[in-house]
Amino acid sequence: MTYKAHNKRYEKLNYRRCGNSGLLLPPITLGLWHNFGGKNNMLNESKKMLFRAFDRGVTHFDLANNYGPPYGSAEKNFGKVMKSDLRSYRDELIISTKAGYDMWPGPYGEWGSKKYLIASLDQSLKRMQLNYVDIFYSHRFDPLTPLEETADALAQAVNQGKALYVGISSYSSKQTIIMNKLLKQRGIRCLIHQPSYSMINRWIEKDLLQTLKKLKIGCIAFSPLAQGMLSNKYIKEIPKKSRISDNSSLDLKMITKTYIKKIKNLNRLAKKRDQTLPQMALAWVLRHPIMTSALIGARTIKQLDDCLDSQNNLEFTKYELKEIDKYAINEKINLWENSSKY
Ligand code: NDP
Repeated sequence: MTYKAHNKRYEKLNYRRCGNSGLLLPPITLGLWHNFGGKNNMLNESKKMLFRAFDRGVTHFDLANNYGPPYGSAEKNFGKVMKSDLRSYRDELIISTKAGYDMWPGPYGEWGSKKYLIASLDQSLKRMQLNYVDIFYSHRFDPLTPLEETADALAQAVNQGKALYVGISSYSSKQTIIMNKLLKQRGIRCLIHQPSYSMINRWIEKDLLQTLKKLKIGCIAFSPLAQGMLSNKYIKEIPKKSRISDNSSLDLKMITKTYIKKIKNLNRLAKKRDQTLPQMALAWVLRHPIMTSALIGARTIKQLDDCLDSQNNLEFTKYELKEIDKYAINEKINLWENSSKY
């Protein structure tokens, strides 16, 4: 039976304006980096997660060319659901994709050249069975390609109607300023920046957030749960069904004694607020007025629901924030820092 969206889906979330653009985004966005790839995933929980998210007002789904594994399979699976169930809701959805990391072999399969970005977007559109994406990102800063060329590629994507808006991901404050100017010169808005950000990965507080505020660019924070580390799942043991057990982007080495100590304390503070730690972590990311959305991943509908319930309590007292600051200290978990060191 074809999916039919919940008729009260827009009564649940407070949508946030993306920078000074006309675009509103949901405070929680669902990303398809993990749990949506492979052959069979979309037949079960993952497909249901897309529907559940949309039923609860999540209008934004975030992808990239190489999400899987294998590369491309998350987009392909998403495309199948687009065709079978979501086609009639296309105008209610914000779908983003990116190119920048390795996608196919040879010199034209990664980084920031026009050759790669344009070819990759064409492939993404085919896989997702879409005529256009809402947002196309330069996935990482390329120190060897002139930024003018990357800006040219992004502008071309918009001018050809293949993307409505463009964004950048994991660019430093300095390179963000330059890219914003280059896009402006080409008559294009830099809509949004997608950096990593969480209670234990706070690099954007140094200067990027201020820059985005000044330039009126939106901000969508990825891995706001530090890939699941901001939950109590790793306190006692490594659960069988978890990102660490999957042997993917989280490393057992990241579960240190100091980390466990922080999590126990943050858990305690979350309990006081009548929230789970993931809920408090999301509310905390969204405390910045310029934060447009927190970009989560989820393995199960239960996790997704838990994350969306963060919206029931977004307020923090000054005292709570001070207490949180005692434990919300960077761990060595920022896998994307190379991109933002320039
Ligand atoms: P999160 O920090 O939200 O981590 C998601 C993981 O956290 C889940 O897989 C799950 O782990 C755990 N989790 C989620 N909800 C709960 C809950 N309520 N209780 C307990 N555990 C929970 O984000 P991701 O790292 O998945 O990244 C989110 C999205 O951001 C990606 O899908 C992608 O779209 C984007 N992204 C962009 C990048 C870029 O370079 N621009 C890089 C990385 C991500 P488990 O599976 O162990 O149960």
